[in-house]
Amino acid sequence: MKQQRNRWIAAALACGLLLAGCGTADSGQDSTGVTQSGSAAAAAEPVSREIFAMDTYMTVTAYGEPAQEAVDAAVSEIRRLDALLSIGESGSEISMLNDSGTARVSDDTGVMIDKALELYRDTGGAFDLTILPLMETWGFTDEAYRVPSEEELKTVLQKIGADQLTWDKDSGTIALGEGQKMDLGGIAKGYTSSRIMEIFEQYGVTSGMVSLGGNVHLLGTKPDGTAWRVGIQDPENSAGMLGVLETQDCAVITSGGYERYFEQDGKRYHHILDPTTGKPADSGITSVTIVSEDGTLADGLSTALFVMGVEKASDYWKQHADTFDAVIVAEDGMIYATDGIVDSLSCETDVTVIRQDGS
Ligand code: ADP
Ligand code: MG
Repeated sequence: MKQQRNRWIAAALACGLLLAGCGTADSGQDSTGVTQSGSAAAAAEPVSREIFAMDTYMTVTAYGEPAQEAVDAAVSEIRRLDALLSIGESGSEISMLNDSGTARVSDDTGVMIDKALELYRDTGGAFDLTILPLMETWGFTDEAYRVPSEEELKTVLQKIGADQLTWDKDSGTIALGEGQKMDLGGIAKGYTSSRIMEIFEQYGVTSGMVSLGGNVHLLGTKPDGTAWRVGIQDPENSAGMLGVLETQDCAVITSGGYERYFEQDGKRYHHILDPTTGKPADSGITSVTIVSEDGTLADGLSTALFVMGVEKASDYWKQHADTFDAVIVAEDGMIYATDGIVDSLSCETDVTVIRQDGS
């Protein structure tokens, strides 16, 4: 499978494609490439660095004169945020909060908590930053995977619910409910990619991109002024591509059940959990790609809409069409795209358009 995958990546690179949403189930790894072609190459040489952070492979690329400094600063920022947010490192801000149950948090964490709580309210609890005890129960935090009993789930579910925590935005103080633990993993990479775009802008970079575990965030256009081309992975085939999105100045973030999972007795259990059942979301969706200028929002929504299912996700988009667009792949093979993005999407298969008037 790996070989096939590499061939596909090589083909994509030859076409000047960025790849989004292409984590592999076996390693959680991601391969992402950027290349330039034709006049793009003439316009500017890219500076690119690859690093491993936040449990995934990342590529940071910027074009133009201040690119080296901007890319170095972006990499430092990724390392800083990784150290701050890691739930695997006992000294991280999040780990210390989870140990003590209350803390005054840094500005970055405060912004993420704020956004996560807004998403919790807006999505009817589909996005829930207190999901960690469930992630631990299923073994997703230490790869000691197991299927918990209904009884055990019932007990753990009592600790789930962002309505049980207290957040004082003014002082930046959070107090978790009894036995609660916080997990910003559903938005951390989107927040990070947004920070990188800000850093690029501070350095005067006008064209650049970052890929964090298959999530892509784009600054400006390609240096030749044309749109970036982002490949969206086929959730059913890690070597295949579902379609290509032509876009600029936005985040393209995919959540899929194929990204991290284990199998037991022939059944697959993935890492996006439904906070109401305590089990891997079984909503009939195989992947959700969110396109938005706001990386944090895009990341959170890719997780939340996956939990909601096609119908609720469509309704949600209709209420919030000014802030994002989405491509949703369902288990039955249907591909849905919201009105705002369908013209920028090329797919081999038919696409059902989600329109605001419901037509
Ligand atoms: P990935 O980070 O693997 O690209 P997602 O953006 O969908 O994929 O985030 C999944 C992560 O979000 C999980 O690893 C877990 O930390 C967290 N998570 C899982 N289910 C939920 C949920 N319902 N609400 C909020 N966070 C969740
Ligand atoms: Mg997410």
